Amino acid sequence: MGMNMSLVNLLALNVHEVEELVQGLGWPRYRTQQLMKWLYQHRVVDVDAMTNLSKIDRTRLQQVATIQRDSMISRQIASDGTGKYVWRLGDDLAIETVLIPEDRRRTLCLSSQVGCTLDCGFCLTAQMGMKRNLRAHEIVGQVLNVQADLPEGEHLTSLVFMGMGEPLMNFDAVADAIQRLSNIEWGLGFSPRRMTVSTAGWIPRFPDIRRLGVNLAISLNGTTNAQRERLMPAVNRRYDLETLLQACRDYVQSSERPLTFEYVLLAGINDAPEDAHRLGSLLRGIRCKVNLIPFNAFPGNAFQRPTPDVIDVFQQIVRSRGLDVFLRKSRGDDVLGACGQLGRSASEVSEALSTDSHKRALPIYAKS
Ligand code: SF4
Repeated sequence: MGMNMSLVNLLALNVHEVEELVQGLGWPRYRTQQLMKWLYQHRVVDVDAMTNLSKIDRTRLQQVATIQRDSMISRQIASDGTGKYVWRLGDDLAIETVLIPEDRRRTLCLSSQVGCTLDCGFCLTAQMGMKRNLRAHEIVGQVLNVQADLPEGEHLTSLVFMGMGEPLMNFDAVADAIQRLSNIEWGLGFSPRRMTVSTAGWIPRFPDIRRLGVNLAISLNGTTNAQRERLMPAVNRRYDLETLLQACRDYVQSSERPLTFEYVLLAGINDAPEDAHRLGSLLRGIRCKVNLIPFNAFPGNAFQRPTPDVIDVFQQIVRSRGLDVFLRKSRGDDVLGACGQLGRSASEVSEALSTDSHKRALPIYAKS
């Protein structure tokens, strides 16, 4: 905001747009890759640091361009090491990113929209409504900023699109971000296998996401249309359970990557033994693994977390049906960075938001 309104933010350009800029300046083609490397591999925050450009070229570039990252509003670290970051976007909206450390691994949970178009009943983000899509650089910027904030020698090891928003409803920006994050010549070089996109079931984009080679996780959460209708009405009305599962079968047929199904366990809603049996039947024949996520209660939401016994029985049944099933534990409860709680502080600081803000339920967990 403010100062450099007339200058183009280099981070806001994709590789083709940087190429156009380079052409416009009358520079040789190879300069595109040089600039991209400065931005995404050396991760400089100042054109002046681009030392393989002559002083004259740097000055020329500074006349038209700048490097601007979103600023940090807050960072909270929970007792288990989970970090929650809130960023201020150029238009003063706010988003969250959650860092989940586990042993040597560092997983970053990225937001893809400010708010969400969908209306999942157990989700804090849903309650803030949809403000807008994030642009690619606002997604990549979460990674650049957190990486810069890590202690010397620590690196992010995996990226999950499970923060605020439905990534497949902002596909173009997510795909552009994934390109910058995964490109090995000039980008951040994350293997697509270390990236997971989580969807509530927006099936028209399944083939597109498969082509990117990243992992796909389906937030299932119910074994009947009645349950999905209650928990995730907007998406289930468009694509009911049968349609979703058919899209999942098509997906695994043409993908070498298995699917992941996420299942938030809600006491008395979807945690009965017959649900577990039904889950086993529904997923039979689909190459996949299942993550069970005991719900984290948050104020203003009526859903409850099942007791450990109920969770255990559920898991045993699903396992007995031949599925790979893992129990995920929520992380960082004390900073509201846990499952179902992301998005609250972002919405609180965001002037444009109304007061009854809340948020999302997905994977901020670690395998237990
Ligand atoms: S769970 Fe995901 S898709 Fe559903 S409302 Fe929340 S952010 Fe949107």
